[in-house]
Amino acid sequence: MKKVVKFGGSSLASADQFKKVGQIIRADESRRYVVPSAPGKRFSNDTKVTDLLYACYRAAKEEEGKFQEILTEIKNRYQEIIDGLGIELSLAEDFKVVEENFRSQVGQEYAASRGEYLNGKIMAAYLGFTFVDPAEIIRFDGNGKFDGEITEALVVKKLKDLDAAVIPGFYGAKEDGTIKTFSRGGSDITGSIIAGAMDVDLYENWTDVSGFMVTDPRIVKNPQAIDTITYRELRELSYMGATVLHEDAIFPVRKAGIPINIRNTNAPEDPGTMIVEDTCKKPKYTITGIAGKKEFCSLFIEKSMMNSEIGFGRKVLQVLEEQGISFEHVPSGIDTMTLFIHQEEFAEKEQQVISGIHRAVNPDYMELESDLALIAVVGRGMRSTRGTAARIFAALAHANINVKMIDQGSSELNVIVGVRNEDFEPAIKAIYDIFVETQI
Ligand code: ASP
Repeated sequence: MKKVVKFGGSSLASADQFKKVGQIIRADESRRYVVPSAPGKRFSNDTKVTDLLYACYRAAKEEEGKFQEILTEIKNRYQEIIDGLGIELSLAEDFKVVEENFRSQVGQEYAASRGEYLNGKIMAAYLGFTFVDPAEIIRFDGNGKFDGEITEALVVKKLKDLDAAVIPGFYGAKEDGTIKTFSRGGSDITGSIIAGAMDVDLYENWTDVSGFMVTDPRIVKNPQAIDTITYRELRELSYMGATVLHEDAIFPVRKAGIPINIRNTNAPEDPGTMIVEDTCKKPKYTITGIAGKKEFCSLFIEKSMMNSEIGFGRKVLQVLEEQGISFEHVPSGIDTMTLFIHQEEFAEKEQQVISGIHRAVNPDYMELESDLALIAVVGRGMRSTRGTAARIFAALAHANINVKMIDQGSSELNVIVGVRNEDFEPAIKAIYDIFVETQI
């Protein structure tokens, strides 16, 4: 059994957190490939080392005093961890190179990557594992695009004979050695790439929450954690704004059929959430999760005999395409069609869209409504359970919430409801209550 274990920034923000991580890794010898992030926040208004590095790099250009100040702060953050762990390690040589490269402005992505690089050095020394610089094995092409094929070959070649290794997250390099990073939160992607390439049994992603929650804890206090979720369900919920994992971290493990286990460094006894391709396990509450987003608008279009006008829908959607606007949902009636669009995206082009639709299909009537929210109730369990929709709408009716739109995907994996922005939080609470609190 082999596992990749990735630890997020808050799991590695201090020596105490490192010690918890050390215990977790030592408790299971299959935890062989360790992917660390840079030190994150130690307390709520602390600054992540990655952000300090960006700021330091900017200051290196023209603000010597500020540059020195931030660099010292970064050095102190690492030194505090080294001292707290009581290990023999000096990063002085590494910091010398960092300082030179910052002064010669080798690149912002190089700068950001040093957070993971230096943390990886500490982690490798602390665990007694081999340090592997991802610049050697995570490859980006000449245009800066991640190259999965070459990477896989390089990863396998490098790691196959190593018993245990620390591979810092978030970055790699082009063939010429130029350092490239993934987008923010990208250490998740590195973990997934290593897991996929080494064909491990499990990718454990350790963070500061006990898994993926049924809904947003800012809306429902202490929501339940989801024990098992499929990749498709996760995609639906993430699209609607729920986040635990970087979106691009799914593909490499999904392709290899490897499950992801989201775990909590601060509560390692919690089983966390398993993210899997498919499962026979019934979700605990019929629904798997609830997520949503505010700030949508709807454009209602009416034209008599619309139903028999061939090409009507295409012409309308083409207007959006020409304006570079994507749509979220298009519920329709016999002579009506409504477009749900992100308000911000629409606001800039609204008049062009309206006149474009007039020209394209000559409707009888159009109406715009703004400040709408969409809520997705997602769950593989809905397919085999009667009355799920009835319960959702009963809960909303009890909470006095008017439903503006309903859309059930034909996969029966989700029901999406549109409500007014101000009803967003109460609607989520009501749906959570009926499925989870009362556990019908
Ligand atoms: N340290 C990087 C960030 O703050 C990457 C990561 O933590 O995954 O975005």
